[in-house]
Amino acid sequence: MALRNIKTEGNPVLRTVCKNVPEVTDSLKRLIDDMFDTMYDSNGVGLAAPQIGIVKRIVVIDDTEGHKYAMVNPVITETSGEQISQEGCLSLPGFAGRVKRPLKVTVKALDRDGKEFTVEAEGFLAVIMCHEIDHLDGILYKDKAFEYGAAQK
Ligand code: ZN
Repeated sequence: MALRNIKTEGNPVLRTVCKNVPEVTDSLKRLIDDMFDTMYDSNGVGLAAPQIGIVKRIVVIDDTEGHKYAMVNPVITETSGEQISQEGCLSLPGFAGRVKRPLKVTVKALDRDGKEFTVEAEGFLAVIMCHEIDHLDGILYKDKAFEYGAAQK
């Protein structure tokens, strides 16, 4: 288990458009494992590679309801509906805001073994996927949020 340091707002890496991963190598698998460890250690439900200073298109997700994904080069291929919910981010500690997102998304990606898969996500899981994939384009949820401010204790 290896924990990585989570970068916080102000670090330019969070505003960088990340690069596609050409191949899922063994070192990339170790990176994915470190991302899961780091996410769980911080009680997060998602983590994107730029949050640990790596400008590659990789996210890890665990919604704590049985949906756990490593996604390499994820692409949202379909969206429908809309929902508004409260979001936070490990890179913006102590803050929260409400964001409008699609209710449902279809996402295509490579898994930890480099195999292509497609997920249809709805509700909270769709929010996590949109939030994490935004990170890969240097977008933070606060850019889209209303009522953004200090989180209620
Ligand atoms: Zn985030």
